Amino acid sequence: MSVRVVIVGGGPAGNQAATHAARLGGEVTLVEREIVGGAAHLWDCIPSKTMIATGGARSFAARAHAMGLFPREAEVDGVALVQRVAEIEERINRSITELLTSQGVRIIKGTGRLKGPREVVVETETGVEELAADTIVLSTGSRPRIPDWCEPDGERVLTTRQAYPPPEFPEHLVVIGSGVTGVEFVHMFSSFGAEVTLVVSRQQVLPLKDAEVAGALEDDFIRRGVALLKGARAVGIDRTADGVAVRCDDGRVARGSHALLCIGSVPNSEGLSLEAAGVEVDDAGYVPVNQHCQSNVAHIYAAGDLSGKLPLSSVAAMQGRKIAEHVMGLHTREHRHLDYEKAASAIFTEPEIADVGLAEADAFALGRKIRVTKMPFAASAKALINSDPRGFVKILSDPATGVVLGGSIVGRHAAELISVIALAVTCNLKVTDIVDSLLVHPTLSEALADAAE
Ligand SMILES: Cc1cc2nc3c(=O)[nH]c(=O)nc-3n(C[C@H](O)[C@H](O)[C@H](O)COP(=O)(O)OP(=O)(O)OC[C@H]3O[C@@H](n4cnc5c(N)ncnc54)[C@H](O)[C@@H]3O)c2cc1C
Repeated sequence: MSVRVVIVGGGPAGNQAATHAARLGGEVTLVEREIVGGAAHLWDCIPSKTMIATGGARSFAARAHAMGLFPREAEVDGVALVQRVAEIEERINRSITELLTSQGVRIIKGTGRLKGPREVVVETETGVEELAADTIVLSTGSRPRIPDWCEPDGERVLTTRQAYPPPEFPEHLVVIGSGVTGVEFVHMFSSFGAEVTLVVSRQQVLPLKDAEVAGALEDDFIRRGVALLKGARAVGIDRTADGVAVRCDDGRVARGSHALLCIGSVPNSEGLSLEAAGVEVDDAGYVPVNQHCQSNVAHIYAAGDLSGKLPLSSVAAMQGRKIAEHVMGLHTREHRHLDYEKAASAIFTEPEIADVGLAEADAFALGRKIRVTKMPFAASAKALINSDPRGFVKILSDPATGVVLGGSIVGRHAAELISVIALAVTCNLKVTDIVDSLLVHPTLSEALADAAE
């Protein structure tokens, strides 16, 4: 008899678990209350990166005179932009749905919760359905955190999900929070021509990143006229006659036309009736999991943002895949455990930022000996051809063995280029493996080989 797998939540974690488990012979039902593809497609990765791409094209147009083009100040067509976001989402949603159904996954549109250890109840528009399961995967994601000192109104005080697009393009946006999401919004709206103020609670934007990498981004923000309010924690937002006033704990006030909250997320675990199956959550509401993504109840798995691991779409999808392999018994054969420390991540700003593996600061904190080699894009022919020599490639390796331990890239296409270092980190390749690769000339990837030298 085939394994009955019921998955609640159809974001990257849920839909990867579904397709892969079905491919491996499972009888799979996927319960999704909104859109297959999940928040990742509806509100997070896809709309944000689509809007950033338009902002990037606009700032490129402004720089184009350096490449021999007549300079033009491109206008943003808000209507066309919104339509473009919708079209891309629609295409992705259609292709994911087709893939799932082609693998025999049953998709139910409705809200799921646990009724018992092996039972899921789904409320749909037409009624209630009960599903029996051998294995349950919980992948309900997360939503923006709203602090008790402010109430987003969807007009002037926005959460990230109210900003794709905002109700009107802000003249002056105050972004609260300088983590990955915050800095991406700063970049997006400043490239559309808005004035932007960033409230930074510490002394560095991207407080968890390499100081040199964060410094490169700060320099670019300052060059673009972004105001950085450092060492300030927002404690309240007041609506004013023509906008907002963001009050900070040190008495400073940031005024603008709109405010945007980028202060993290909370898991969608309440409403799942986890207690009906004895599934434990931690104090923040996440479902703790082991290396196979099993919760404290062995046949109930949690994946994606709900599991409290790295909140990345790529990680969620990989967890879904690994769960499918575990459920279908593949882990007994050749199977690589998910190593969160080797996850590549990127920040889609300008310059783009990407990193993977060991960070320089962590190596120093651990007292670990490392070799750090670096190459600025200013020395790359392709970067000069692109008229964008900002940034650098940095590679960390083990001085005794030459094995690549990590790396950071700041510059154009960093999110694509990091794949080479990510592969090296995952497969324990050596710097000489990168140096000996015959790469295309002229390309930005040559800087990787130069940095590895
Ligand atoms: C602004 C922003 C930009 C981001 N950009 C990136 C990026 O560029 N790259 C990247 O890797 N990550 C990015 N992320 C993170 C990424 O969006 C998340 O890590 C990812 O969406 C997590 O996937 P998931 O499968 O856990 O959940 P989600 O994508 O949140 O999907 C969960 C699904 O579960 C459904 N659901 C919830 N409860 C129920 C229920 N009871 N019954 C049925 N269905 C339910 C929801 O409707 C949703 O569709 C971004 C995040 C934000 C906030």
